[in-house]
Amino acid sequence: MGSGKWLERRHRRALSWWGARFGRIPRRGGAVLGLFCDCEGGHAGPVGERFAEKGLDRLLQMLAEHELRITFNVVADLCRTQPRNIRRIVEAGHEIACHGWRHERPSDLAGAQIEEMLAKAADCFAELGVRPAGFRSPQSAWSVGLVRCLGARGYRWNAERDKAKYPYRIAGRLVRLPVATDDWDLADGSGTVHDLLEKWRHGVDGAMRGGQVICLGLHEWIVGRDDDYAVALGRFLGELCRGEAPAIRTLGEIAGR
Ligand SMILES: [Zn+2]
Repeated sequence: MGSGKWLERRHRRALSWWGARFGRIPRRGGAVLGLFCDCEGGHAGPVGERFAEKGLDRLLQMLAEHELRITFNVVADLCRTQPRNIRRIVEAGHEIACHGWRHERPSDLAGAQIEEMLAKAADCFAELGVRPAGFRSPQSAWSVGLVRCLGARGYRWNAERDKAKYPYRIAGRLVRLPVATDDWDLADGSGTVHDLLEKWRHGVDGAMRGGQVICLGLHEWIVGRDDDYAVALGRFLGELCRGEAPAIRTLGEIAGR
C-alpha cells in the first residue's frame, strides 16, 4: 500500500514535470488571471449548508457589478439538490466545471470508481443541460488515473494546485491549468483576510511582470460566512478592473479551444 502510494506520487510528479517542460501551451498576449469558485454547498459540511447560498448571492452580484465572467467548479450533486442555484450561475453566463460528484477525492478512488464518479457527475450536469469541459479535484487530490479518464471522457482541462506558471498538456490533449492558491487560509484560520489579499496581489503582480497565467480560487460559502472577506474581495475585483491588471478569463478560455 505504502509503496503503491509512493509510486503514484512519483508518477504524478513525472507527468507534471514532463508536461510543464515539453507540453507548454503557446500563448499570445500579456498576463491572464483565471479566477474560479469551488461551489460546494452542503458538501463543505454544516458551515457550507448555512452560508453557501448567501455567498453565492454575494458573489454573483459582485461579478455582475464588475461585468466579470469566471469559472464555477460545481459539485455535480448540487445540480439535483440545488438546481435553482446552479441555474443562476449558468444564466449569468459563467463557465460550469466539475468539482467531483459528491466532493470525493479522486486520489482515494481506484480506476473503476473514478469512471463511476465521472459518469454520475455527468448525469447530474445533464439534468441542467450542462456538459462541463473542465474538472477540478476536491483538495487538488488528483491522480494519474483521473487525468487519463478525463481525456477519454472528452474533458479539455484540469485545474489543480501546481507550481507551473503556464498551462500545459498533462495527458494527451488534456490541459493542466496550474492553481497558485485559494482562500483556504480563511477556512482553516491560518491567515487573515488582509494576509490573503496581499498574497493574491503579490501573485498577480508577479504574473503581470512575467506575462504569466495565474489561477486563484475561492469558495462561495467562505464569501457568505466572512463579511470582511466579501468586502475585501469586492475591492480586489474593483482594482483588477481598473488600471494595469491581468485580463480575467474563465479557465476554459485560458485552456483554449
Ligand atoms: Zn472542494
